Amino acid sequence: MPRPIEALIHTDALAHNLARARAELAGARLWAVVKANAYGHGIARAYAGLRAADGFALLDLAEARTLRELGWRGPILLLEGAFEPRDLELCSRLGLWHTVHCEAQIDWLAMHKTKAPHRVFLKLNSGMNRLGFTPQAFRSAWTRLEALPQVDEVSLMTHFSDADANANTDASTPGARAIDRQLQVFTETTRDLPGERSLANSAATLRHASDAQVRADWVRAGILLYGSAPDFPSHDIGHWDLQPTMTLRSKLIAVQQLQPGDTVGYGSRYTAHAPMRIGVVACGYADGYPRHAPGTHEHGTPVLVEGVRTRLVGRVSMDMVTVDLTPVPHAGPGSEVTLWGRGPPVDGRVSLLPIDEVAHAAGTLGYELMCALAARVPVRTVGEAAWAADSPPP
Ligand SMILES: *Cc1c(COP(=O)(O)O)cnc(C)c1O
Repeated sequence: MPRPIEALIHTDALAHNLARARAELAGARLWAVVKANAYGHGIARAYAGLRAADGFALLDLAEARTLRELGWRGPILLLEGAFEPRDLELCSRLGLWHTVHCEAQIDWLAMHKTKAPHRVFLKLNSGMNRLGFTPQAFRSAWTRLEALPQVDEVSLMTHFSDADANANTDASTPGARAIDRQLQVFTETTRDLPGERSLANSAATLRHASDAQVRADWVRAGILLYGSAPDFPSHDIGHWDLQPTMTLRSKLIAVQQLQPGDTVGYGSRYTAHAPMRIGVVACGYADGYPRHAPGTHEHGTPVLVEGVRTRLVGRVSMDMVTVDLTPVPHAGPGSEVTLWGRGPPVDGRVSLLPIDEVAHAAGTLGYELMCALAARVPVRTVGEAAWAADSPPP
């Protein structure tokens, strides 16, 4: 028998989250951001749930090609644009739209031979200082692009560094008002330029989409589609009405009865104060579970056993974690364990463990956990959309 671990991708939840974002948009269009192999979900699996998007945004040319092979004929945007001149050939061939964030990318376009001119998104560095032209250089970049026969339409974009910032944060904290400042820089720099605009990531979409300037023409939603709240712990997915799209689940493969003074795992980081049962789960850091997830008396990372919430005890090892079975006395070898996502129903109600809670306990983000799902974990697609796409007609 293979190890009992598996990941499930819920295409119905992807579709739900997309619809949920769309409800905020008052007609603005939505890029489904599927970079990093759709945040670890797999491009093809995510595509099954996200077909209602207006376009797909990503970084990797191979992933763009995969989307075309899957049959997507709509817009695809390369969020970092070309990495070298010959990437533009693939853009021409596959009809990819691409970001232009530096002079070299304009030079490459100027030398590029193409029959069909390209749609480009000119990126403004409005304060994040990662990619984009400074406000001083932006206008001349725009003029240069506009004059190129290789360029069809020039759209305008920027990226927020602090769209998830808590509105109650002390205004002296760096980033507390950054979204207002960046919005002002973008608005002033692009004031009289024509072209479609794109500013908002997930956090800005959920928190600020009522502002037409933030919503603009296209939002770029990533993490919200994958059932993680961009501003956790200020808000959780329940607050935003999002559903988990990835479940990581496994089973208990052993049970130990501890006596007071017994310790658990490497480094003996957990000591039993009273008799207790613990379960050993077939999931470790080599599966993508965060090694720093704590399992001490003070801080226990949440986990579901048979849908019942309990906590890690002891350190995460390569292939196993250990969990407190006190709240689940009926659990034993073979019991289902949910590391994150959807658990089995308990008393007729679905059990859920949002990935954000696990990430938060481990000092990281839902983003990182999804992307780190290890290649050795078998993945299965579930949900109505997948059924419709994968099953032969009855
Ligand atoms: C990743 C990315 C996004 C999506 O961010 P989320 O926080 O996942 O919504 C949007 N825009 C750009 C440029 C990105 O790189």
